[in-house]
Amino acid sequence: MKMANHKTKPAQVPAPNAAGRLSHLEQELATALERHELVWQATNDILYDLHISSGEVIWNDALCRQFGYSKHELVGSLEWWVSHIHPDDALNVEDGLNKWFESNSKTWKTEYRFQRANGTYSYVLDRGFMIRGADGTPERIIGTLLDITEQKRLERAKDEFISLVSHQLRTPLTIIRIYGDMFAEGLLGKLTDTQAEHIARMTAASVKLIKLVDDILNVSRVELGSFDINRSWVNANEVVRRTVSEAQVVADIKQVTIAFKPSRSAQRIFTDAECLEQILENLLSNAVRYTSPKHGKITVSCSANDTELTISVRDNGIGIPRAEQKRIFERFYRAHNAVNIEEHGTGLGLYLAQILTRMLGGQIRVESAPKIGSTFYLTLPKE
Ligand code: ADP
Repeated sequence: MKMANHKTKPAQVPAPNAAGRLSHLEQELATALERHELVWQATNDILYDLHISSGEVIWNDALCRQFGYSKHELVGSLEWWVSHIHPDDALNVEDGLNKWFESNSKTWKTEYRFQRANGTYSYVLDRGFMIRGADGTPERIIGTLLDITEQKRLERAKDEFISLVSHQLRTPLTIIRIYGDMFAEGLLGKLTDTQAEHIARMTAASVKLIKLVDDILNVSRVELGSFDINRSWVNANEVVRRTVSEAQVVADIKQVTIAFKPSRSAQRIFTDAECLEQILENLLSNAVRYTSPKHGKITVSCSANDTELTISVRDNGIGIPRAEQKRIFERFYRAHNAVNIEEHGTGLGLYLAQILTRMLGGQIRVESAPKIGSTFYLTLPKE
């Protein structure tokens, strides 16, 4: 790849004509070039112009100003750029870029850490616009880098705060639930029917709150990067069976059936069992919550080929409106038909399930039809 020296875009002002005057067109061109040059220099956003075949990158001065590089330290090449991306982010950026190159999308954005002249890293938001040749081949990317380090620091502080508060909430909530259970079981004396009813409501509310706090805690652990993945050889059939029997407790109350079809080929997979269990717990508890009492039927199946394991969770519940199917994996998103049925959802379960699935190197997708049902497919690499 050709290395090019750093340079800013020169404004080529047209020469005056023979009469010493600029024609109207030439004047417009000169004004446009001057405006372009001013924008290029004046903006606080870092601007780049990458020529893909040569690897040449033209930066504006903001990169030197913001990250402390002198002009001779800055090399206008793709290699220089890539070598300044944090090693832990490089693969992710490369992966995203490859997907963008293969798609027909014009724009792309991603976040990563970029090295400053003093060796520390800043978080940047990279937003690119691609210019392609007539046959669709990527030729050039024009884009901006925005320093979002401060925003990231605030987000982290907020996540740490939420994590701390949730953690502190969990213990008192659990105590309320335990005493509620003890009252219900008659261990703390006999209750009148009305008292028992009130206690049952209190316990149900505390269980919902504990679930909410757990979801928030898990999301903040994942977002803070403090969720560890510990892989080992796992029998996926056993993990599914365990999760199904836990979900069965609530399913029984609703008289919803859960059938499980194990598969011999799912007996050995190198993954994190706890993480897999958490993903399945979310899919199964949704399947139970979004099917109607007495009529609900849920089927969980495992299947695998040489490289991948797929676990499907099928239900005959309310389904998901087509237009909303893409959004249900977003944080806090809830489809409108679900909100009517189950008002206490958090919209965090699938968001978390998707992040955990990605951490395991897999994918999650849904096929669904309103009033007919939904099937969630979880695909994981076997090794
Ligand atoms: P929650 O269920 O707490 O609202 P989730 O993140 O688990 O949050 O799910 C997001 C949304 O996806 C739900 O609100 C619902 O609209 C939809 N959804 C998830 N699973 C199902 C399902 N099995 N059947 C119908 N809708 C579902």
